[in-house]
Amino acid sequence: MRKRALVVGLGIAGMSAASGLRRAGWAPVIIERAAERRTGGYFINLTPEGMRAVDDLGLDTLHTRNPERGTTWSLNRRGHRRPALGWLDLPGRPTAMVRGDVEAALWQRIRPDVGSGESGVEVRFSTAPVEIVGDGTVVEVELEDVSTGRRSRESFDLVVGADGLRSTVRSLAFGPHERFMTPWNATICAFPLPGQAPSFGAQDSLISARSGGAVWVFGLADRAPTALLAYCTKEVGAQFTGDRTERLRDVSADMDHPAVRHVLDALPTTTDCLFDSVHQVKMDRWSTGRVLLAGDAAWCLNLFSGMGTTAALRGGAELGRALAEHPDDLPAALAAWEARLRPFITKHQRMARLKHQWFVPTNRALTGVRTLVLHLAVNARRAVTEARLLRAAAPAASGVRRGAASP
Ligand SMILES: Cc1cc2nc3c(=O)[nH]c(=O)nc-3n(C[C@H](O)[C@H](O)[C@H](O)COP(=O)(O)OP(=O)(O)OC[C@H]3O[C@@H](n4cnc5c(N)ncnc54)[C@H](O)[C@@H]3O)c2cc1C
Repeated sequence: MRKRALVVGLGIAGMSAASGLRRAGWAPVIIERAAERRTGGYFINLTPEGMRAVDDLGLDTLHTRNPERGTTWSLNRRGHRRPALGWLDLPGRPTAMVRGDVEAALWQRIRPDVGSGESGVEVRFSTAPVEIVGDGTVVEVELEDVSTGRRSRESFDLVVGADGLRSTVRSLAFGPHERFMTPWNATICAFPLPGQAPSFGAQDSLISARSGGAVWVFGLADRAPTALLAYCTKEVGAQFTGDRTERLRDVSADMDHPAVRHVLDALPTTTDCLFDSVHQVKMDRWSTGRVLLAGDAAWCLNLFSGMGTTAALRGGAELGRALAEHPDDLPAALAAWEARLRPFITKHQRMARLKHQWFVPTNRALTGVRTLVLHLAVNARRAVTEARLLRAAAPAASGVRRGAASP
């Protein structure tokens, strides 16, 4: 009999965990509160560590969207532009996509096509956990069909809570949200644009940032760009009352130029929008008994880190590895899994504070420092590119002279 695991959440962390579990010989069942699988989503960049996890999980259908051409522009308050550094200029040459691309590749992995000979992972939509009780040897879960309210009980050898920032599994098995979620006094709004802002190239990226607020447009290959608005506020709860577009127009009022207007005009027309407050999740342990948390539920690094997808994919790949190494000792497997991931997560939780300033500087002094550092970095990049071009041209030029001198 294969061991059964309940995975709560059909996001990147949940599908990665299911994929890892299957590789270790387990039989995962995924439950998802939504009625169907979501698609689309915001811009994601994957670091080389994330791409290694993609390979480890065998995601050979992952569609990537790095722009083949296009410039990243920094726009001042009036919309005047100059070249800037974007996410894809970060060291290690990250790879661009949208969240739905990663989820589609994972879905393909856990639900192979009919006829491929492989059986798929069982997925139940409109289902959520309402009670989790463990006795050390087994974990009993009360499940609810959220469309009918019907409840049933089932037992599993392991429960993986991959149900995001406001995890139900975490609150049922570890304690209330406030114990683990640290607010960052920031709000974000991410959504796809119907097209590029006027007067920019289709794959250009744009950054309009000032103290306390920023608008980013991420240019991508094969599709229209996506937008991200981020702003700092201590009144987080108040952001979710009233009209969302009007609120975002208010906080962006001092960036009144055509590119920002284009982004704000697109907002009411979209059905795929994430408008949320920013938090980090910090926990001393990611498992208790036979209940484990993964992805944003366990360690939400938050969007400023740009590492949440990489971490979620790595979490699933490492889970499969640890369970395969300790097939008859679950506590040892979970301890090994956590020991491998913890240093990576701690490092990126710290680095997120720094990257936050790049995304949206929190005060005037830091805005000045940010502008200076980015200006120096752009100049350094230009100098490196010119030196490279000169080096490439030099042998060719000397070759022509030698050729001309020979009889
Ligand atoms: C705007 C934005 C930009 C980002 N950019 C990047 C980036 O560039 N690079 C990067 O690496 N990361 C990025 N991230 C982070 C990354 O998207 C997440 O860390 C990653 O997708 C992992 O999410 P998850 O699967 O843990 O949770 P989620 O994506 O939140 O998925 C949780 C799933 O669980 C389901 N669920 C919730 N509650 C229940 C319940 N009670 N019962 C059943 N199901 C439930 C939800 O419906 C959902 O399907 C970004 C995040 C945001 C918001």
